[in-house]
Amino acid sequence: MDTLIRTSTLIDGTGAPARHGWSLLVRDGLIHQIGPDADFAGAEAAVIDLTTGVIVPGFLDVHTHFCYIHEAGFQQSAQHPNRAAMLLAGADNAAEWLHQGVTSTRLVGTPFDMDIELRSVVRGEKLPAPRMACAGRMMTMVGGRRNAWDFMKEEINGADEARRWTRAHLGRGADLVKLYCTTLLEENVADYLARALALPDDAPDPGRWSSLTVEEIRAVCDEAHKVGRTVAAHVAPTFGIKLALRGGVDTIEHGTVLDDECIELFLQTGATLVPTLSVMHYQMTHGDALGLPPVFTEFARRRWDSQVSMLRRAADAGVKIATGTDAIIDGMQYYDEVELLVDAVGLAPMDALLAATRNGAGALGMAGEKAGTLEPGKFADLVQLNGDPLADIHHIRDIMTVVQGGRVAAVPDRASGRGHRGHHG
Ligand SMILES: [Zn+2]
Repeated sequence: MDTLIRTSTLIDGTGAPARHGWSLLVRDGLIHQIGPDADFAGAEAAVIDLTTGVIVPGFLDVHTHFCYIHEAGFQQSAQHPNRAAMLLAGADNAAEWLHQGVTSTRLVGTPFDMDIELRSVVRGEKLPAPRMACAGRMMTMVGGRRNAWDFMKEEINGADEARRWTRAHLGRGADLVKLYCTTLLEENVADYLARALALPDDAPDPGRWSSLTVEEIRAVCDEAHKVGRTVAAHVAPTFGIKLALRGGVDTIEHGTVLDDECIELFLQTGATLVPTLSVMHYQMTHGDALGLPPVFTEFARRRWDSQVSMLRRAADAGVKIATGTDAIIDGMQYYDEVELLVDAVGLAPMDALLAATRNGAGALGMAGEKAGTLEPGKFADLVQLNGDPLADIHHIRDIMTVVQGGRVAAVPDRASGRGHRGHHG
């Protein structure tokens, strides 16, 4: 039987202004028809009444890691990771993110391809969770693994090996390939940060970086794109962003130091930028309490101002920006990423909402064809907010109901904390 979802104010995520008195007819989890209530008179359907508040598309977090656990502390992988604990954390984080209105995610790097296993458990057991596009393990160049127990990355050398690895990895069930394109050659990151802090902002990067080559990146992109998959590139330094864009990746993750040439390359290639602001912001605001070495928080503070102003320039120039939290620290919330786009970067609430919905869909590859907007043929994934996010973006955290595939999937409950607590990877 079809489902009719009645709304009073609806923002469809295409950039069009809010509609009033519209309904959606859902068939087999997809939006079959959307339009003014009068169009649906006499429709035979079960009714979901969402005629209070404001309806927006379900959110997309295109950069997260549900299965992270922190036995060894922030950003350090454990020598003997507990896989059962990773899977449990993954299921719990997935449920939490769904309650925060995130109906689709991209998991961009997980030891042992545990995210692919999580996805099959979630499907098999029908657990509450966002739709998941999984990258499994990442690919990096020889020397890209930080230590012997960095179970999240695999090293390749040369375009042929990159191609071979990509084919095998997609065969293992990955929906996308995550490239770890650049890494510092020096062991002591704190030393590098101290050196960088001692230099003026416009001085050349004082680090010694190893990276994948354009040929290796291009080989991966060829193989992935052939079968409708996408490629995400972790890069921090400017030269790495350019390599990755020239190699044809779909998304740049972090992209901490952009220059004008990077912006030009984004526009030429149509790639999407996933700035993951909230992880750096969380380090700045909670670094001391988390016991991070002071040089890390000081560096984050220094980079913050230049990153947000460059991001604003990129957005003004027309670079597509999508939300990804990189929520790997206890206490992080999805909402922060969207709010920072308005509060720190200065985007209009509508542009932040598009970053949270439509803009991330392409990054999901085949999994995203039906995500991100409320239009015929798309997933009936939507969120009922108790206030207008275009008037005040902070209303995105005031969630009444989360609908996924035309069914009520989550009702955040302040008593249980679901939808209101952080990620606890
Ligand atoms: Zn990440």
